[in-house]
Amino acid sequence: MHLKRLDIVGFKSFANRTELEFVPGVTAVVGPNGSGKSNVTDGMRWVLGEQSAKSLRGASMQDVIFSGSDSRKPVGYCEVAITFDNNDQRLGIDYAEVTVARRVYRSGESEYYINKQACRLRDITELFMDTGIGKEAYSMIGQGRIDEILSTKSEDRRVIFEEAAGIVKYKSRKREAEKK
Ligand code: ATP
Ligand code: MG
Repeated sequence: MHLKRLDIVGFKSFANRTELEFVPGVTAVVGPNGSGKSNVTDGMRWVLGEQSAKSLRGASMQDVIFSGSDSRKPVGYCEVAITFDNNDQRLGIDYAEVTVARRVYRSGESEYYINKQACRLRDITELFMDTGIGKEAYSMIGQGRIDEILSTKSEDRRVIFEEAAGIVKYKSRKREAEKK
């Protein structure tokens, strides 16, 4: 499984539809200060279900929508779609390619999709559980996160190992079953 592409429209500084293709060998995104590098990773976390505006460097969730510039009017909605190669079936669904998308309108209305089918945020969270991919998973190590991991309580650190071991899904299902 690997990240294939990211399609962005109206998200943060990306007013125009922007397609980023991560062909094998791409290891870095470079550019001048303020050119949108961090907005790319914000987009990745957002589409995977990030719910905290603060961690996306905004005050409210609507702040992720392009707010206009000297030459362009603000837009009414934004969408990010992330595509993974799933030929090895690491994501437990029967598609060679999996695209997860999220769209939000200024009204606050939010939509999630897996391969163009509308779904719940929960379906997305479950899809990536135990894969190491996700807004909090170890495939995304943000600034300061290493220190945080090292200094955190051992029970909290354990979650990282459980994700790598692939047992988060079972623990979550057990918790759900116990609630019923
Ligand atoms: P650095 O090298 O300094 O880390 P960077 O390439 O990571 O820079 P970003 O933080 O991704 O840059 O981009 C910052 C730019 O995105 C700023 O110019 C900011 O105005 C713009 N931006 C953020 N949110 C929005 C929005 N909702 N609408 C329009 N522009 C936005
Ligand atoms: Mg940055």
